[in-house]
Amino acid sequence: MVKKTFPEAMARIYYRVYVCRLCKSKMRADPAKVKLGKVKCRKCGSHALRPKKRPLA
Ligand SMILES: [Zn+2]
Repeated sequence: MVKKTFPEAMARIYYRVYVCRLCKSKMRADPAKVKLGKVKCRKCGSHALRPKKRPLA
């Protein structure tokens, strides 16, 4: 049986998660704030963030 996963819920969970391109640390942030450059990595202070992709498994 396939696990019951709700696509909308998964999207909601991963949509707001960003990964630092430099140190690969994850953080939850508002997409609008990321776009405006207001969010920076709390570990290395970088503004280079990318949205986290949904895992395939
Ligand atoms: Zn970082």
